[in-house]
Amino acid sequence: MFNALVVRKEGDEKPSASVEEISEDQLPEGNVTVAVEYSTVNYKDGLCIGPGGGLVRNYPHVPGIDFAGTVESSDDDRYTPGDKVVLTGWRVGEVHWGGYSQKARVKADWLVPLPDGLDTRQAMAVGTAGFTAMLAVMALEDHGIKDGPVLVTGAAGGVGSVATAILAKLGHEVAGVTGRPETADYLKDLGATQIVAREEINETTKRPLEAETWGGCVDAVGGDMLARVLGQMKYGASVSAVGLAGGAGLPATVIPFLLRGVNLLGIDSVMQPYENRVRAWERIAKGLPMDKLEAMIQPATLGDLPGLGRDILNGQVKGRVVVDVNA
Ligand code: NDP
Repeated sequence: MFNALVVRKEGDEKPSASVEEISEDQLPEGNVTVAVEYSTVNYKDGLCIGPGGGLVRNYPHVPGIDFAGTVESSDDDRYTPGDKVVLTGWRVGEVHWGGYSQKARVKADWLVPLPDGLDTRQAMAVGTAGFTAMLAVMALEDHGIKDGPVLVTGAAGGVGSVATAILAKLGHEVAGVTGRPETADYLKDLGATQIVAREEINETTKRPLEAETWGGCVDAVGGDMLARVLGQMKYGASVSAVGLAGGAGLPATVIPFLLRGVNLLGIDSVMQPYENRVRAWERIAKGLPMDKLEAMIQPATLGDLPGLGRDILNGQVKGRVVVDVNA
């Protein structure tokens, strides 16, 4: 028997989450069983834990869209017991039982061997949010980052914190947009050279084009914020659209695309092919300043998760929550 955060829903009642003892024969099908060490709290996890239910189709459910740990048993030649592995995406924690458990059973195809230079705790300090931040930066690089500051929206959140640290380490000037002025010192420590108040972007003129300001952008917010930012990009610059923390609508015009050649790049971390996942994790292991990563960590246990799920949906989490599932 081992511990897991199980979300149950009876009839028309709202789902509720609590730590339970479960057994290995309850785990879903898969060809690799992993002794999970760490998981994290992402926006999607908030939706899966929360009383709204959100993304979960079948109950009981074990959330946790990412985890890192040690292979315990494997029917797949690529993995042997003792291997350190990391998992993000593939709808684990949404459809398939996820990482809020001391054991997880998954398909070998979904795993990535932990790269040299990262331990399981550091891998989850990065987690889905940080992995996505790296994909977003790689997409900007593929399309060319222009001169001038690179804007990061939702900067004090998970994706934003890691994107800020990566871009600063790569030598870019980083402007972090935040609605929480009290996070300014934290963002400067991560490498942001400029702090932009959320209202400064949201309350601009709403003209389709404004001064050409940003050489690139990692946007975790969407909605009005993304619409305003598109009109502030330098000619030919790109925006990696990662999230919708500020809304799923996009009240924009086509003018920035037509008159400034702006590129809007959609970033999806869930269905990334194996080669891309390995490439991104290796760049994270080599390129992410580990001291900055430590500064982002908020430690948690399985028992803390119901409260943290609410916090992340309310935009109240700073940096990355790392869940020690064995604590
Ligand atoms: P967090 O909650 O950690 O960060 C989101 C940040 O956005 C908040 O910290 C806040 O930053 C800002 N924010 C929140 N609400 C608003 C609002 N109403 N208006 C403007 N800004 C707001 O979440 P993550 O960083 O983990 O994820 C960010 C987004 O990216 C989510 O929508 C998530 O679902 C998505 N995502 C997408 C992935 C993909 O594959 N495409 C993978 C991972 C995440 P501040 O306080 O600094 O203003």
